[in-house]
Amino acid sequence: MTPNETRAALERLTLQPSRAMGQNFLVDRNIAYLIVAAAGLHADDTVLEIGPGLGALTELLLEHAARVIAVEKDGRLCEFLRERFGRRQKLQLVHADALEFDFVPVAPFKVVANLPYAVATPLMQRLVDSPARPQRMVLTVQREVADRLTARPRTKDYGALTLFTQLYYEARREHIITPRCFIPPPAVESAVVSLRLAPHPLLEPALEAPFKELVRAGFGQRRKMLRGVLPKLATRVQVTADKLEAALKRLDLPPTARGEELSLAQWLLLTRELVATAPAEPK
Ligand code: SAM
Repeated sequence: MTPNETRAALERLTLQPSRAMGQNFLVDRNIAYLIVAAAGLHADDTVLEIGPGLGALTELLLEHAARVIAVEKDGRLCEFLRERFGRRQKLQLVHADALEFDFVPVAPFKVVANLPYAVATPLMQRLVDSPARPQRMVLTVQREVADRLTARPRTKDYGALTLFTQLYYEARREHIITPRCFIPPPAVESAVVSLRLAPHPLLEPALEAPFKELVRAGFGQRRKMLRGVLPKLATRVQVTADKLEAALKRLDLPPTARGEELSLAQWLLLTRELVATAPAEPK
């Protein structure tokens, strides 16, 4: 929709865009094309769209996918979309909070969404942790969140969110979007990130919880050395100072290493080392 059509629709709906619901509507058609192109859709794909709003992406998704499931929390926008796309068989419009929506029955699916910023991280985490993990996600998020998803070790953006996402997905920043591409313009820049599911799991399921505990502990106080935080905070894996020192040595890492200095591959190796030497759980 053009900026004028968007303003007219909002006026007709007497809808004052809600900041809490992240209601910034995309009005740049070229950007909409770029987002949908990044998803590499096939004619038999099912796409989940979170927060379709006035339908800026929905319209294009309907042209390229077999089925679009659009989950919108705002009832007034659902009404509008029903009117706009009512006759399209391919569209299943769901009036629901995406934080509570059960993705599993929809699988296999891809996700394309301009996410509401306030809940972008928990929504993404839910998708990443779902037993029905999407094969591909193309998400517009705050630029700062995109930087964290795609961060490299030894940078300020590198942290638990980076590692928890990259454990399953290859993350790539596709485009920066300036605030003026939306009505109303958000306060910050946005970025489109594509997440492609890794063809093979990097870690066996039994090691996922220990990996997450170690990473959380390692970045809890990110300026501290691992030897200062893991023995104190990683209580389930039961890291002792001696075990950690030996594990770091075997991995050729200095005893002074900090969480932000380890790559994903090194975090995976450290998890294996520490779990292999952990005492057995009491029966
Ligand atoms: N896709 C539209 C676009 O690109 O113009 C709208 C994007 S806007 C950034 C975010 C949308 O998410 C809004 O339509 C808002 O009402 C909806 N939304 C906010 N929180 C939601 C939630 N928890 N579940 C589903 N939709 C939500």
